[in-house]
Amino acid sequence: MLFGIVQGSTYKDLRTQSAEQIVSLDFVGNAIGGLSVGEPKDEMEEMLAHTIQYLPEDKPRYLMGVGYPEDLLMAVSHGVDMFDCVLPTRNARTGHVFTSEGPLIYRNATHTLEDKPLDPNCDCKVCQRYSRSYIRHLYNQKEITVIILATYHSTYFYQKLMQNIRRSIQGNCFDLFRKEFLELYSTNGR
Ligand SMILES: [Zn+2]
Repeated sequence: MLFGIVQGSTYKDLRTQSAEQIVSLDFVGNAIGGLSVGEPKDEMEEMLAHTIQYLPEDKPRYLMGVGYPEDLLMAVSHGVDMFDCVLPTRNARTGHVFTSEGPLIYRNATHTLEDKPLDPNCDCKVCQRYSRSYIRHLYNQKEITVIILATYHSTYFYQKLMQNIRRSIQGNCFDLFRKEFLELYSTNGR
């Protein structure tokens, strides 16, 4: 499927012009590009909120290259349907996973003897079976299995997050879901 991509950096007039031209070409979906490239987060939200009003609701609206779980929730609140991002997989390969209690650096020495799984609230097959200490051990031994296990967990976590977002929208309780998710996510395992 061919999507159009709206550009225009952080200039509202250029975003408007680009969005109108892209929409007039009648693609199957419309993407918002050129955000999440290092601009401050409040600027990203402002540009997103400005741009998305020009994109038809009955076609997929895709925010490119985003992002952290809190960014996905923010963007969904403005009406975004689709995302792509390297974070869950790239970070997993370098000792860092996403969990319901916040980001976790599993390679840290504090997990040397930790029996808990990567995410105590996750029902993925990695969290059901392996401890943080074992996963950290694999990382330190440069054992390739760690890349598979950590990537599996973080991908599962993102899939589950989007599934729960869809359910909360269908149940008309997205705002509550977002609030509760972020409360737990900001505890960082405390
Ligand atoms: Zn898991």
